[in-house]
Amino acid sequence: MKKQNNTKKKKNVKPKDSNREFYRIMYLFSGLFLLLCGYLCYFLIFESREVINNPYNLRQETFERKIVRGEILSSDGEILAETLITDNGEEARFYPYKEMFAHVVGYSQNGKTGLEQKYNFELLTSDIPFYEKLYREFMDIKNPGNQLVTTLSVKLQQAAYEALGEHRGAVVVLEPSTGKILAMVSKPDFDPNTIVTDWERLINSDSADGILLNRATQGLYPPGSTFKILTALEYMREYPSAPENFSYECNGIFSYNNAEINCYHGKSHGNLDFIGAFEKSCNGAFAYMGSDISISDFYDLCESFLFNTELPFPLAYKKSSFLLTEESEDWELVQTAIGQGKTTISPLHNALITATIANGGILMQPYLVSEIQTAYGQQVKQYLPSVYKRLISPEEAAALTKLMTSCVTEGTGYALLSDSYTAAGKTGTAEWDEKKESHSWFVGFAPAENPQIAVSIIMEEAGTGSDYAAPAAKKIFDVFFSDKKK
Ligand SMILES: [Zn+2]
Repeated sequence: MKKQNNTKKKKNVKPKDSNREFYRIMYLFSGLFLLLCGYLCYFLIFESREVINNPYNLRQETFERKIVRGEILSSDGEILAETLITDNGEEARFYPYKEMFAHVVGYSQNGKTGLEQKYNFELLTSDIPFYEKLYREFMDIKNPGNQLVTTLSVKLQQAAYEALGEHRGAVVVLEPSTGKILAMVSKPDFDPNTIVTDWERLINSDSADGILLNRATQGLYPPGSTFKILTALEYMREYPSAPENFSYECNGIFSYNNAEINCYHGKSHGNLDFIGAFEKSCNGAFAYMGSDISISDFYDLCESFLFNTELPFPLAYKKSSFLLTEESEDWELVQTAIGQGKTTISPLHNALITATIANGGILMQPYLVSEIQTAYGQQVKQYLPSVYKRLISPEEAAALTKLMTSCVTEGTGYALLSDSYTAAGKTGTAEWDEKKESHSWFVGFAPAENPQIAVSIIMEEAGTGSDYAAPAAKKIFDVFFSDKKK
């Protein structure tokens, strides 16, 4: 009995011990597994965003190992940037339109620029379904990053790119009623597909070329006669009856104390009323207006139009400057009134001023991305048009529209005449170096009575605004309106 009991006892002890061992190990591993799951869930939900947001590139690069950088799309879904797998299994960023979108879309190697930089966080975030992310984590497969749907139109970008031709310069096209940037071109350009191999050449290029610089937002130029829009506005504020009563006799030269201003090629415009002075872009008449306005009020007006101020814009840009003060010398006063002197402006800023007039005096917040989507096209975030600020009254916007319409129908903007739409605008021929050809400017919008599109174009060292930038704007408007008809 005793023996039997002993045996029984012995038999019972052994399995009990091994069971205990087994359960202990099982609990330990289950615990570890749950901890791991818990951390993974926590990481995917909370920490991952922190890691991408972290400014230390090393950590961002770590994250790039977990996410395939998302796509950048045009407004109608064309791929502007995507990540492909090369033959040797490596990822490569591919830009199907090569140079055409180079500056605005940017690049993501050797530093980041443009949309690639601004939306780096979104492109390296994956909002695909959670269970799929978890599965991919366990299988060690990268998650596909979110994609950007931009406001950029391939057709208008192409039209703007071609309109600029071989000239250095920039084009900005936007929708005045929403602030959507429809196209943004800068030349000279580069192919972002070969940014790494071309790097040395690009950064060592002649500083005048500044190939990597986005001239649309970072190029600062004298505004030339496009600035007469603001001089005219200040003059109308101080002399409300100017549109009816103003009169100026142009003999080709305007003298003010020790300063002298010539009309283009010394041309005499004869007797001009207010609208005539604007249509013909008479330097003498505008220098005269400049000599007859309050400099501090003019300064305030320019600051209200975002000179010397930050612009509401998501990508890198340079601030425009307006430096005229009561202490400025006479030459600077009259030069500033015709858009020369020390005043500088970016093509983007000139586009925003033009769009404000087109939109009845209200500047809409300019934007480039309308939606963030998952890699499968589901909406993650939407960006809607929003008002930035009213800059001028509806009456002032209407008065400027009238002047700008007349500039096309009767004056230097004649290249914009079309049978299929009306247009309003202002040419500019900005002198910047006595030995070199002027920069050619045009800013304008169409249709004049119900604006749907606004442009700002500068062609460096091209010549007059009438001969170069205005016809370039016409080409862009033609594409826009031919597309509307279909
Ligand atoms: Zn004149």
